[in-house]
Amino acid sequence: MNSQNILEVHDLAISFRTVAGTVNAIRGVDLDVKRGKTLAIVGESGSGKSVTVKSIAGIIAGNGVLNGGTALYAMRDKDGNEKVIDLLKLPKKEMRHNINGTHIAIVFQDPLASLNPTMTIGAQIAESMTFHHLYSHAEAHRRTLELLDMVGIAEPERRVRNYPHQLSGGMRQRVVIAIALACEPDILICDEPTTALDVTIQARILELITELQRKMGITVIYITHDLGVVATVADDVAVMYAGRIIEKGTVDDIFYDPKHPYTWGLLSSMPDMDDTSDMLYTIPGNPPNLLHPVVGDAFAPRNAYAMGIDFRKEPPLFKVSDTHYAATWLLDERAPKVEMPKELQRRLARIMKEAQ
Ligand code: ADP
Ligand code: MG
Repeated sequence: MNSQNILEVHDLAISFRTVAGTVNAIRGVDLDVKRGKTLAIVGESGSGKSVTVKSIAGIIAGNGVLNGGTALYAMRDKDGNEKVIDLLKLPKKEMRHNINGTHIAIVFQDPLASLNPTMTIGAQIAESMTFHHLYSHAEAHRRTLELLDMVGIAEPERRVRNYPHQLSGGMRQRVVIAIALACEPDILICDEPTTALDVTIQARILELITELQRKMGITVIYITHDLGVVATVADDVAVMYAGRIIEKGTVDDIFYDPKHPYTWGLLSSMPDMDDTSDMLYTIPGNPPNLLHPVVGDAFAPRNAYAMGIDFRKEPPLFKVSDTHYAATWLLDERAPKVEMPKELQRRLARIMKEAQ
């Protein structure tokens, strides 16, 4: 494992058994996550972002089948000694008791679905700590108040006694983040954590996550549809399409020099916080049906720059630089030279400028 990485996913393959047949949802994913940094994962709906991060957190749905791959996690103990473990090979019980929550925490889009309607929020935050036997009940109560304060909830002493329905959507999402942070995880995964919230609350939650990251040094994996968010929070970006990572690099690589035509289309179609989305481009066509085998580049039928080979052979991840990789035959030395659309170049430059 590379010493700067906290997590390395290699060759991840996952399928789902459905009445219609086997859906090959994840078809060989490779990901590096650097310790203390933020990785953004982007891609159209259905591209496999959630399944990828859920497999890391050990919560794949019952009809899911792990067909192969590793998810190496460089776990550090209190003395800083490192031990590499493969999260995909851990028994379910060990994952639940020793990893999930304490080392890796995940925040989903819908806070209501993550909270128990019949328990006060105070009890729910404290429970996550006592479940892992990290704190006594008294300590857990004290830390609950601290955490509520930390995520910006006023009057924590009163709020601990509230039930989820007594809080606004933005406050509930803050509670979910407090639960995620309760055991001081190494890795915080946020799967579209602000999609259901209005724009000002979104911005505040985002600030909160970045601030907590600075304070606690955690590593963040952030899934979002918002291009402004990517520019603001990400150090690195991975682009997913049809169950694969088709391009990855630093945020500068992806915003100043994207190489894959799918990345061009995606970045042109992703809204950003300050933009009206009515005038946004949409990529023509639809992603492939993963019930059927994919031949060639999965994006070929929608790719205005597709060549003959795109329909026959899956492209490898070509190396653009030490940090930047893209899986498009356009990077083959025999391919014609094609530039990203000027319009997109201007848009990305503007968003990067605003993000600073
Ligand atoms: P994303 O998060 O990028 O929108 P997902 O990771 O949720 O996409 O889904 C990837 C693919 O896996 C989709 O085609 C989706 O339909 C399929 N999928 C996810 N979970 C299941 C499941 N439990 N059963 C069947 N198919 C699933
Ligand atoms: Mg998802």
